[in-house]
Amino acid sequence: MSEGAAKKEEKPRKFQAIRGTRDLLPPETALWNRVEQTAHEVFATFGFGEIRPPIFEPTELFARSVGSRTDVIGKEMYTFNAATELFTFEKLSGDSPSPEGAENLGEFVFRIRDAFEKGDIPPIESNKRAVDSLLSKFSELAKVSQQLKPGVWQGSVPFLDAYIQLDAECRAIASNIKLGESMSLRPEATASVCRAFIEHGMQQLPQPVKLYYMGPMFRRERPQKGRYRQFYQIGAEVLGGSDAPAIDAEVIEMVMTFFDRLELQGVQLELNSIGCRECRPKYVELLRAELLKVKDKLGPDSQRRIETNPLRVLDSKLESEQGIIATLPRIADHLCENCASHYAAVKHQLEMRGVIYRENWRLVRGLDYYMRTTFEITAQGLGSQNAVCGGGRYDGLVELLGGPPTKGIGFAIGEDRLILSLQESGKAPAQQGRDVYIAWMGDRAHATAIRAAKDLRKAGFSVELPPVEQKFGKALGQADKLGAKYALILGDNEVSEGLWTLKTLADGSQAKFTEPDLLEHLRRQKALSS
Ligand code: AMP
Repeated sequence: MSEGAAKKEEKPRKFQAIRGTRDLLPPETALWNRVEQTAHEVFATFGFGEIRPPIFEPTELFARSVGSRTDVIGKEMYTFNAATELFTFEKLSGDSPSPEGAENLGEFVFRIRDAFEKGDIPPIESNKRAVDSLLSKFSELAKVSQQLKPGVWQGSVPFLDAYIQLDAECRAIASNIKLGESMSLRPEATASVCRAFIEHGMQQLPQPVKLYYMGPMFRRERPQKGRYRQFYQIGAEVLGGSDAPAIDAEVIEMVMTFFDRLELQGVQLELNSIGCRECRPKYVELLRAELLKVKDKLGPDSQRRIETNPLRVLDSKLESEQGIIATLPRIADHLCENCASHYAAVKHQLEMRGVIYRENWRLVRGLDYYMRTTFEITAQGLGSQNAVCGGGRYDGLVELLGGPPTKGIGFAIGEDRLILSLQESGKAPAQQGRDVYIAWMGDRAHATAIRAAKDLRKAGFSVELPPVEQKFGKALGQADKLGAKYALILGDNEVSEGLWTLKTLADGSQAKFTEPDLLEHLRRQKALSS
């Protein structure tokens, strides 16, 4: 290897965020905070309380709730098992015993013991017995391997036979250890909220229970603009009580109020009812029969969905299929009486609340527990990924997860897209400036500057206090770069006179103040500008 190549290799790796994940940085994070703060405020006015479920849960919770046939489970979850990597046998001794093999086996056995003690392997009785006997078998094996001095590993029967026997027994015991449950990073939070509702017996609380959450979700999707592998959702769920149409309408009103408060542009609410367990299966059969008649004209994805999930065909964005889809039967014409009147009442309730919607008969959810009200909200500036919020009623979900029959409705807002849309319409905050930059010179002035910074910060002003002395010219340049409104100039003169100089950077004007007057002046100016 040439010297140059060797140098190149020595260079430490430059790390980058994993594809599909990203850093949220200032000043953008100020917008994220404003959005989240607004959500806290608006949702609280509707009587919602915040829930913070864990970020990972049993894989089965998501598999059951999201449905094992859907894309999310099939290929999109980040799934792991705390103990799986412990059980990679490749590095173990293999067929021919060797000192390294015995050492590896020892390491393996102690790792298992530690994992059991830490609780990464379920603390059940059979595992305890297995770990104990693994340890005692290994100590026998260690004794035998002592006899197999280096150099005689190949030939020293009967120790060799005993070693091979014990090695096999250790592996057999290890393979009987029951591993912990598979876990997954949450791809969405509705299942977690329902799990928490059941786990904490929330059906005992006054109904309905109104909860909201915000935080990261994880899906192994193909990253593109507006589609990430770690993305953020703000969502809410109403669980329990009745399925009164006013609940559906109020949940929708709440999201729309939130978007309104944020001045999100181009907001469009689309609404549909997808029926219930009574009427939807009949509609799905009718749809399937109609789709079979036109199967040849559909693309491969839709053809496949005729069997697996005909409703999803209605989602198709394929240009060539649009004409055919327009002729298909519409669910609104096939709702049972209860669903039809529920849907009519939801629309009426929305009108009473002044919420503008557009009906979209093609808006569907493919999962069995979704029913009746479904909605989606789109916003401006997002290209093809323009949905910022999806929601709907899911009366069967809590029961599906082992809880009592419970009504449910909720929504999830894609926060990344919401932020993107706000930025596109010019709602991004400017670089965060400072109120006051303290330009100090000299030891006495430094002590005064530290005190002034403390007092100003206490009064709610943002203050930049340079850590080392600077010439005044340089300090003012720095203040300008940071977007400070004022420079407070503190030199020995100012300190001994007790009169501090405040320079307004926008117009260069200067005035002198005593300490209390200065605070009062800044307060007044702040009140005037806000
Ligand atoms: P869903 O949970 O799939 O109904 O999605 C609800 C909302 O979350 C969507 O309308 C999007 O705004 C957002 N969303 C879903 N998946 C992603 C993703 N991979 N990246 C960014 N936002 C997403």
